[in-house]
Amino acid sequence: MVRAVVGANWGDEGKGKITDMLGQESDIIVRFQGGANAGHTIVNDYGKFALHTLPSGVFYNHTTSIIGNGVALNIPVLFKEIKEIVDRGVPMPKILVSDRAQMVMPYHILFDAYEEERLAGKSFGSTKSGIAPFYSDKYAKIGFQVSELFDEAALKEKIERVIVQKNVILEHLYHKPLIDADEIFNTLMEYKEMVAPYVCDVSAFLYEAIKENKNILLEGQLGSLKDPDHGIYPMVTSSSTLAAYGAIGAGIPPYEIKQIITVCKAYSSAVGAGAFVSEIFGEEADELRRRGGDGGEYGATTGRPRRMGWFDCVASKYGCRIQGTTDVAFTVLDVLGYLDEIPVCTGYEIDGEVTTDFPTTGKLEKAKPVLEVLPGWKCDIRGIKNYEELPENCRKYIEFVEEHIGFPITMISNGPGRNDIIYRNK
Ligand code: GDP
Repeated sequence: MVRAVVGANWGDEGKGKITDMLGQESDIIVRFQGGANAGHTIVNDYGKFALHTLPSGVFYNHTTSIIGNGVALNIPVLFKEIKEIVDRGVPMPKILVSDRAQMVMPYHILFDAYEEERLAGKSFGSTKSGIAPFYSDKYAKIGFQVSELFDEAALKEKIERVIVQKNVILEHLYHKPLIDADEIFNTLMEYKEMVAPYVCDVSAFLYEAIKENKNILLEGQLGSLKDPDHGIYPMVTSSSTLAAYGAIGAGIPPYEIKQIITVCKAYSSAVGAGAFVSEIFGEEADELRRRGGDGGEYGATTGRPRRMGWFDCVASKYGCRIQGTTDVAFTVLDVLGYLDEIPVCTGYEIDGEVTTDFPTTGKLEKAKPVLEVLPGWKCDIRGIKNYEELPENCRKYIEFVEEHIGFPITMISNGPGRNDIIYRNK
């Protein structure tokens, strides 16, 4: 069976923890989009890890971890991550890399930084991992697939051709040093050395695995609102964050994805620029940021403080719908235990009218939150295993959210650990 774990919002919903947890019962875990620009934080018996490129399954010795063709593959980052986990005592994971995955080139990272510099105050808040230049090149058909590393003559010729265009932009737009074709070729030969043992025809591998009834988990990065088509364009990421894209980014039939677990955090956080209707500021935001997640809401890749807000039913209802959610995993609920009252955003007021439908970006920027205030539960809910044992106000909060988003909350995460989970039969 194929399942997907994806985010409902702006990312950082706690997908890593849910994937890690579901990884226990998975044979194969696949990353299908994105690159090293976001990170999952995972707490397990080996310690606390921030993964950017490796699938969360690398901590189990029964799983195969796959980098699918849809990923922006940064080879040095991948190998640095493998080394880091192995150095900390994790057994060498079984990893396969799609021969059709394309590689983040050193100049993608440079172009990302140069463009942010050029835009100055009007920048997108990129993590400068080269993701936007990478996907631009992929769709402009001047990207480099892993498979191309193995035909050196053709590779050399293609580098020469692509570099001409890059150097015009470097010279005339960014006024930066030019890139040298030989240097790029030599770097790619180093990449080839690193990646060669792992290269695989992933869609063929997964086709067989599906026939053998293996449990396959597709691991999404970021969330619905960062999807380039359905998110808050242009403040989005450059690859689709939706479960549907899992079929493409892994190379499997779309109808094989039987369960779509959409992860929704019990309050909101976002990184980067863009409209964030339920955002809060000042001391109220600082306190939630400090108490949030596991050790505060700061970016796993950048360390940047995240923007904070109350739970947003409008964004989450939309985020779950566009994912094709079968199950909602409601996470980080334990963090809210300090609040006397908990505001929840149930509607957007746009030009004097209230809506519960998530609008396109222009309207979104005008939206003001309509808040309802629920009573808090004022206690620590960590360690609770059964839904009925949760405090009444906590259950009311969950049921209120469930009703407003319209999708069943079947898992509740009440702590960062793998076993901090309450299953709820729906
Ligand atoms: P991801 O990118 O969606 O995996 O999210 P992040 O890893 O950036 O953020 C989730 C953070 O919350 C991590 O530090 C997790 O360890 C932590 N976390 C996940 N679930 C829970 C939970 O239920 N309670 C608490 N307190 N922390 C959690």
